[in-house]
Amino acid sequence: MSRDGKIAVVLGTRPEIIKMAEIVRLLGERVMLIHTGQHWDHMMSGHFMEQLGLPAPAVSLQVGGTTRALQIAETLAGLEQAFARNTPVAVMVQGDTNTVVGGALAANARSIPLIHVEAGLRSFDRAMPEEHNRIVTDHLADLCLAPTQVSYDLLRSEGIAEGRIAMTGNTIVGTVERALHTGADAARAITTRLNLTERDYIVATIHRPENTDDPTQLAAILQGLGTVAASCPVIFPIHPRTRSRIAEFGLESSTSSLTMVEPLGYDEFVALCAGAALAISDSGGIQEEASVWKRPVVVLRRSTERPEVQGTFARLCTTPDELVSIVAPLLADRNAIIRRLEATPSPYGDSHAALRCVQATLELIEG
Ligand code: UDP
Repeated sequence: MSRDGKIAVVLGTRPEIIKMAEIVRLLGERVMLIHTGQHWDHMMSGHFMEQLGLPAPAVSLQVGGTTRALQIAETLAGLEQAFARNTPVAVMVQGDTNTVVGGALAANARSIPLIHVEAGLRSFDRAMPEEHNRIVTDHLADLCLAPTQVSYDLLRSEGIAEGRIAMTGNTIVGTVERALHTGADAARAITTRLNLTERDYIVATIHRPENTDDPTQLAAILQGLGTVAASCPVIFPIHPRTRSRIAEFGLESSTSSLTMVEPLGYDEFVALCAGAALAISDSGGIQEEASVWKRPVVVLRRSTERPEVQGTFARLCTTPDELVSIVAPLLADRNAIIRRLEATPSPYGDSHAALRCVQATLELIEG
């Protein structure tokens, strides 16, 4: 197989940009960067590309702002054309978005080797579209890059052959460590701007459809956050989806005790979370990042595909009614908890996962 052909890295959302940045950097000239436009807002996409030093995409699609089926279909159709014009020697996708499954199907349709970064995550919650995206992509992939032994074992238990899996760790560890190292100015700027004292505030992010698209659920979450904010300031970098649902459901008055800010750039966000007492979030990635910035995260979800951190860095909160009773003891005991977490290694490995991902990819395509 070719030793110098391009490797297409297909991404389209904020977490994919964050987690693929180091891999793109390491691949250098070999990358054909393709952005599907699933996230198109500058603060959810372009800003991260710039801040994390990614080159301009060679191909840009515009699949954002539509339904899941159309996003997958338009990604597949757009990539089919792009790959026909310029066929890469491999396609890399990361995670569980519609971009990922569209990329996987396009590689498969054109018989191009497919590499799935962050393979083998399972929530066992069939109501999550991401669960289906992960399963389809893992089973199409020629190489599954599993972040942990848990993911490796899950892939094996589904019948994926040993030779199709490599265990790499998760690239997020290196990316957070780098941001913590380079983000000192960002940390000072954001805490001064928001007038915050270390360990005396909470960071909250909510964006998942099951939490934002149902008015009763969203109202209950905002009420829970409001109650928490009575004892500790809650900084709420607001995802565009959440902002528009709050307006649509007329819930603005429920946000009055929260400190709402625009989505933050990566260095600012990492700095903010690393100085907080804890985070409250429905994000997948923040559960992993908490194990690197060593703060607890209360996970506002029915299920999680990241069992590795549950009971140490993460606590599942399956209904907003439980939020206050879960957060209160974490706040009361914050110094002892943080001391304990600081002594707990991340289950996602060391800062060299991106290098392992690149090495495994090159071994696959160069034989
Ligand atoms: N994030 C950020 N700025 C913010 C909020 C989140 O940089 O204002 C980062 C966060 O550190 C994590 C990623 O965005 O790496 C999570 O993205 P999201 O919650 O959209 O997706 P998920 O992790 O659920 O796939």
